[in-house]
Amino acid sequence: MPAAEKPGRNCPRCPRLVAFRNAWRAKEPDWFNAPVPSFGGRDARLLIVGLAPGLQGANRTGRPFTGDWAGDLLYETLARYGFSRGQYAERPDDGLELIDCRITNAVRCVPPENKPTPAEINTCRDFLAETIDEMPKLRALVALGRIAHDSAVTALGAKKSAAPFKHGGRHELRGFTLFSSYHCSRYNTNTGVLTPAMFRKVFAGVREFLDAAPSP
Ligand code: URA
Repeated sequence: MPAAEKPGRNCPRCPRLVAFRNAWRAKEPDWFNAPVPSFGGRDARLLIVGLAPGLQGANRTGRPFTGDWAGDLLYETLARYGFSRGQYAERPDDGLELIDCRITNAVRCVPPENKPTPAEINTCRDFLAETIDEMPKLRALVALGRIAHDSAVTALGAKKSAAPFKHGGRHELRGFTLFSSYHCSRYNTNTGVLTPAMFRKVFAGVREFLDAAPSP
């Protein structure tokens, strides 16, 4: 199976997530209720790594951050810095296209209470590593939150202690630049941990970095 199609809809790797998925398939048979695939082309230079699908967002719609509170700020920011074309309308058929950008999650299945366990994060990392490996032009990653950051660092073969998480931080790892931000979750934005201006600043830096990068 090509990496972009993995994991399949019935990935059996994490028993707790399989049970949660099956319960929601029974409750909401019209929802997506499966590992949410990455959004955007493999030839993008930027990969955004989120945490995991939201129950009523990506898990319902089947597209990362789509229908999630967090998606409003993310998609608005991507449009502002030229990483998307079209209008985000909280639906996977809204016609939104990503430009030179792809979005994935550190954990592909929705976890109860938005909290994947360390074992689930470790188990799903193979898919993150394969996603990175199948992107020939990849130059930069943006990790949203500490869990995504740490999982990306490990997927890139570095020690977490060599690349500690910090909002606005940057690390050079395996020839890529990893940018990090607080997660654009409802909790972080409502409590002021992350303001739209702080989030934009991260993406302004990414835009500047990619614009200055030599063409592949
Ligand atoms: N939706 C996603 O797809 N990922 C997140 O990290 C949050 C919401």
